[in-house]
Amino acid sequence: MVQTNEKDNLDEFIKVESFIDEEREYHLDKSCSWVSDLLAELEENLEEKEKSPESRKMTVSLRIKRKEIPSYGEGLIVRGVFSGNYLTPCIKCLAPAAESVASDFESVFITNKFEDDEDLDETLSIWADNSELEVYFHDRGKCHVKKAVHEHLFLKINPYPLHSEECKGLCTKCGSDLNHNDCGHGAQ
Ligand SMILES: [Zn+2]
Ligand SMILES: [Zn+2]
Repeated sequence: MVQTNEKDNLDEFIKVESFIDEEREYHLDKSCSWVSDLLAELEENLEEKEKSPESRKMTVSLRIKRKEIPSYGEGLIVRGVFSGNYLTPCIKCLAPAAESVASDFESVFITNKFEDDEDLDETLSIWADNSELEVYFHDRGKCHVKKAVHEHLFLKINPYPLHSEECKGLCTKCGSDLNHNDCGHGAQ
């Protein structure tokens, strides 16, 4: 049984104790403040006048449940799927490039008492709930769910956005946008 939360809002910090072993599902979009913050961060290099808040989109769906994790105590299992559309400067000419990003992740928050555990660091995953779960740490039951989404989001974004496949870039001599003017410096 999947319970849907009608409010479809979730704080960026969630408490292990607020959840039960029955999975709850959340469908968030940019009306949720931290999802909106992630979008703003994706667009942070774009000039203010190029921003178009109506066209940027993001959805984050989360499935969350509490579970006893063998040898690590009580954990919060968070499975997420997200996708977004945003604008970012073209790496060649700085015009806005329309980008999209999508991914999913499976994670578990366990107590930060294990943070210094030699067998376990943040790059490690543990097998629980029939999945390989990426490990995050909670501080006295407080889980930073935004952090998990943030990490997967920024791993997935295109590092070389182009506003067009054929972008000609800027002239190295005079800085003209070669998509719009031919300053003549290219012809040798
Ligand atoms: Zn370009
Ligand atoms: Zn030029």
